[in-house]
Amino acid sequence: MSVFRPSELRQFLDSLGVRARKSLSQNFLIDGNILRKIVSAAGVTSDDLVIEIGPGPGALTEFLLQTGARVVAIEKDRVFANALQRLDHGNGQLRIFEADALDFDLSPILGLSSSIKVVANLPYQLTSPLLGKLVPLGPSVKSLTLMVQKEVAERITARAGTEDYSSLSIFVELYAEAQLMFTVEPTCFYPRPKVRSAVVHLDLHRPPADLDAASFIRFIRTAFGKRRKTLRSSLRSLFPREAISAALQAQRLGEDARPETLSLDQFIHLFRSLI
Ligand code: SAM
Repeated sequence: MSVFRPSELRQFLDSLGVRARKSLSQNFLIDGNILRKIVSAAGVTSDDLVIEIGPGPGALTEFLLQTGARVVAIEKDRVFANALQRLDHGNGQLRIFEADALDFDLSPILGLSSSIKVVANLPYQLTSPLLGKLVPLGPSVKSLTLMVQKEVAERITARAGTEDYSSLSIFVELYAEAQLMFTVEPTCFYPRPKVRSAVVHLDLHRPPADLDAASFIRFIRTAFGKRRKTLRSSLRSLFPREAISAALQAQRLGEDARPETLSLDQFIHLFRSLI
């Protein structure tokens, strides 16, 4: 049974006696072309170990398995986690965990391969915490290929000076090279979500070794905390006025510089001159 075909997906859900649950962001892909494009964007090969978050009925899982890659699937919904056993042919290619991906300890999995990729049609309501967990996993994890809400994809990949540029853009750029691969219409899902979607691909790398990433991220969030305010004003909760003025001057930034105009490198320089 190909659960990406609408009629077969409905039949499959009926056979399990379940409906898509909104509380778990269950919007299932019903477009084979999009599924193929996700696997291709992820560049999955038989040498890879793929971590899939939220496999649901398993349409993407099937496409991933067809590449010959090993797949570790983490699904919170017991019914789907159990039903996924049908794709396990006992050859060790598929491991299924019924678990909440947010709490799941990935460290034992990270030791299983030198080529790990995360591929997922994410539960949208958990996008931020899951990004917070997955993005810093490089280089143990090579890349993340994720379906997210289109607005989030635009924020993830935004460049300085654009409207979508935010603390999320900088957080991601610190750990990855991000690309918006393609957009996906609501008609490609069952049930249809109210929002448009997009697939992003993130090649992960380490942040600069001498940077205290946790403090830097707090600094960035504070800088963007008061959007449309100047850095001079938003950073006042962290540093004395004179120190901020001196650091802005040292970076040749005006007193009225706003966070949305600074590149990652400029933020790193500013941070270093303040701490
Ligand atoms: N991969 C399937 C597809 O593309 O058709 C389903 C994607 S659906 C958008 C999100 C999936 O994530 C659902 O199967 C849902 O049950 C699962 N999910 C939701 N919250 C989760 C969590 N905290 N941990 C693991 N899986 C979760």
